[in-house]
Amino acid sequence: MGWRGLTEWGRDLLRIIFPEVCEVCGRSLVKGEQVMCLHCDVSLPRTRVHTDDFNVIHQRLAGSTPIDRAAGMFYYYRESEYARLIHVAKYGSRPVVARRLAEAYARELMPDRFFDGIDVILPVPLHRSKLISRGYNQSQEIAIGLSAVTGIAVGDNLVARRSHSTQTKKNSYSRWVNAQGVYDVDCGDELEGKHVLVVDDVITTGATLLACCEAIHRVAPTARISVLSLAVTHLR
Ligand SMILES: [Zn+2]
Repeated sequence: MGWRGLTEWGRDLLRIIFPEVCEVCGRSLVKGEQVMCLHCDVSLPRTRVHTDDFNVIHQRLAGSTPIDRAAGMFYYYRESEYARLIHVAKYGSRPVVARRLAEAYARELMPDRFFDGIDVILPVPLHRSKLISRGYNQSQEIAIGLSAVTGIAVGDNLVARRSHSTQTKKNSYSRWVNAQGVYDVDCGDELEGKHVLVVDDVITTGATLLACCEAIHRVAPTARISVLSLAVTHLR
């Protein structure tokens, strides 16, 4: 249900019937809070790595394709209560969660000029079959949230040519093999000389993002490539 356009009175009434709750701890949200309560927001395990030239994300994406800037909002532990954020954004039919988190993260990054010079935001695509079963692409929602704050356009050049099997139980090498050949770029000439920001919801091994960046680099070698995700998993 969209609350936009309602009067304050209408919103307050709706809140009584459908109270907005913190997606992390379940507490009712108060005015001004979105997605998370203030308490959960200040305790979010933020990575704060986006100003480092070679950070934990660059390390995971190290390969033949140079990565310019890399940002991730928070560290993700499967057993932590913050895992709920990614779970509801991805599978819980709550695309608005991904969008709101992305907006909040964009506002955090703006003062450090992270988005300066970036021409287009490219979400990691979902294959059609998955898009139909899930109803939305969480990376697209993140891209829309970033765009709403930064004014940078969202592009649809990245495409998924085939569906790849679920990655949750695979090791790093088999994830990389699994992601090869999945992603392709439409109208690659549009990206030549541009600075693109590739966005995904979670970086685990980095195989998915790396495959996307490689696909872009192949067709548009003069493009500068930066990456952003909401969550960065802690590997053990
Ligand atoms: Zn909370």
